[in-house]
Amino acid sequence: MATSAELIEVSERRSAHNYHPLPVVIHEAHGAWVTDVEGKRYLDCLAGYSSLNFGHGHPKIIEAAQEQLQRLTLTSRAFYHDQFAQFCAGLGDLTGKDMILPMNTGAEAVETAIKVARKWGYQVKGVEPDQANIIVMDGNFHGRTTTIISFSTDPEAREDFGPYTPGFRIVRYGSIEAIKAAVDANTVAVLVEPIQGEAGVLVPEDGYLSEVRALCSARGLLMIADEIQSGLGRTGHTFACDHEGVVPDVYVLGKALGGGVVPVSAIAANRDVLGVIQPGQHGSTFGGNPLACAVGNAVIEMLSTGEFQARAAKLGEVLHTRLRELVGKGIVEVRGRGLWAGVDIDPELATGREVSKALLARSVLVKDTHGSTIRLAPPIVVSEDDLIWAIGQLADALYEL
Ligand code: PLP
Repeated sequence: MATSAELIEVSERRSAHNYHPLPVVIHEAHGAWVTDVEGKRYLDCLAGYSSLNFGHGHPKIIEAAQEQLQRLTLTSRAFYHDQFAQFCAGLGDLTGKDMILPMNTGAEAVETAIKVARKWGYQVKGVEPDQANIIVMDGNFHGRTTTIISFSTDPEAREDFGPYTPGFRIVRYGSIEAIKAAVDANTVAVLVEPIQGEAGVLVPEDGYLSEVRALCSARGLLMIADEIQSGLGRTGHTFACDHEGVVPDVYVLGKALGGGVVPVSAIAANRDVLGVIQPGQHGSTFGGNPLACAVGNAVIEMLSTGEFQARAAKLGEVLHTRLRELVGKGIVEVRGRGLWAGVDIDPELATGREVSKALLARSVLVKDTHGSTIRLAPPIVVSEDDLIWAIGQLADALYEL
């Protein structure tokens, strides 16, 4: 087998440099642990940016995928298939919504929510043609399509990709007053991450999501919650919105919905909203395919017991308690909820990437974001001992830097 160094050299030479990976080449993985091509093991504390909430190769997910792979993988939506009804009904029940529109990637689901909100605005709310606007937050991350990066505030994500799609108003994340000031008669929706993941796991103040909900109801706007990274167990609840008892009009889901096996995304909404979409107006060849639905069904079944949510809440206590003890010892601030933390490293000490590399050398996989921040989001199946060990590695790495 080729060495890690050889594989990295070819990858760097032959692929676009749209990512800056840490220098590790993973060969296999089980649960919360991965093994590189040289046989060295690492604890995965990133979990595919929360796509691997159930760990690598969870037996129930693999079994569902293998059974489906043998039998039927694709029909296109030109026909029905035998996994589709269960997927839509199951995800509908999990979200408490009437209807599901399945797609593949997170960005596609966000695009879907935007299209549905605009159509709803014209057909139900009565907004003048082509005048709809959607309120979005600064520091947002919703994906990489041209429309989505049009309302990004991250220069790296948007520069030189114009012309940009109009129809979005960017306001300060966490400020209900800023949303109020931006709403007008043509506003159809507020698109919000209940916790901003890519921005560094920013948790808004308690009450913010409830205020957004109340404002949307009062002004006739759709509240769209992008739960692609925050949803499906990560924060100790099924959805991050659950922490405030908030029910958005539209859930946007992805990542863990595909069990870390296939890309599966979807939006969930009631009939008065999703009912505006008619045949021919939106779709995707692979969206809602049999393999995706079979894997999604296994994920939905696992979430329906509440076991993973409870485990994320319990381990999250351990994670946050131990991380808080490191504040002042190389860490400036810790944020997050459940088994998800954004850790600001003292910028005088090191960058997030330097800390990620130091942890890599100590067999812990994390990834930096925005300069001095690292994110911890291990699979929910991680053992408490392994979690405590990883935080100990972080403490030691900070001490040695
Ligand atoms: N929305 C949120 C909140 C995300 O965190 C991400 C990905 O990180 C996306 C959307 C985009 O998902 P994808 O990369 O599957 O297109």
